Amino acid sequence: MQNAILEVEGIKARYGPVEVLHGINLQVNEGEIVSLLGSNGAGKTTLLNCICGLHSSKEGSVRFRGEDIFHLPAEVVVGRGMAHVPERRQIFATLTVEDNLWLGASHRMPKTSKKEIAREMETVYQRFPILEERKWQLGGTLSGGQQQMLAIGRALLSKPKLLLLDEPSLGLAPLIAKEILTIVQEIRAEWGTTVLLVEQNARAALAISDRAYVLNTGTVMLEGTSEQISNDPRVQSAYLGYAHEAV
Ligand code: ATP
Repeated sequence: MQNAILEVEGIKARYGPVEVLHGINLQVNEGEIVSLLGSNGAGKTTLLNCICGLHSSKEGSVRFRGEDIFHLPAEVVVGRGMAHVPERRQIFATLTVEDNLWLGASHRMPKTSKKEIAREMETVYQRFPILEERKWQLGGTLSGGQQQMLAIGRALLSKPKLLLLDEPSLGLAPLIAKEILTIVQEIRAEWGTTVLLVEQNARAALAISDRAYVLNTGTVMLEGTSEQISNDPRVQSAYLGYAHEAV
């Protein structure tokens, strides 16, 4: 039996009176990269927000590292070891790169010393040398790919056991998008971080993940290993661009 780091059961979520998630079950095991696929409006972002404490109109259960975290606010969840990189990065455009990174570690102070965090920041700079080169620039002056690196670097400074990434390649040129997904793989290899990844680019996501879930209008339509999902004719025709009839 694999070691579950995240267990999601029966999640339902609403915006006002409208239910958009209809009872989602999902598990992520330690050390895995798991992709969450599905078309626009399927409910991927809402599900991540339910998991990390950003969406409150919800039912169900979320256990993280064996603890019930379902009703904890996001700022507490991050302290338990879950970092969320939201869609469109949401870095602070008017703060420097260095200050954006410090913010990632802010909830760990004063328990963790400034010196220790500065040391960890060096590790992030080693991983993303472009951020070190630009550390005194304002976040808003970085390119889209660099902003994504900054958002990931900031999340790493919270020392996450689980990283939730919401569409990290959105709006990036294909080569940069590929580089970002390679970085996700390297983070798992170097930091041992488990990853739950939302991606529109199903092919790229399946190439780096161990397993995947496919959401369709608020329900899990399919789940399996990335190989099983890649070989499913429904996924091939709907998300991978093969000319099968949709089943
Ligand atoms: P995308 O890839 O477009 O971000 P998604 O799979 O992440 O899509 P969600 O953004 O979670 O899907 O949206 C799920 C459903 O909830 C959609 O029908 C969407 O229109 C609706 N929705 C999302 N945000 C809101 C909101 N703030 N208010 C009302 N409805 C919303």
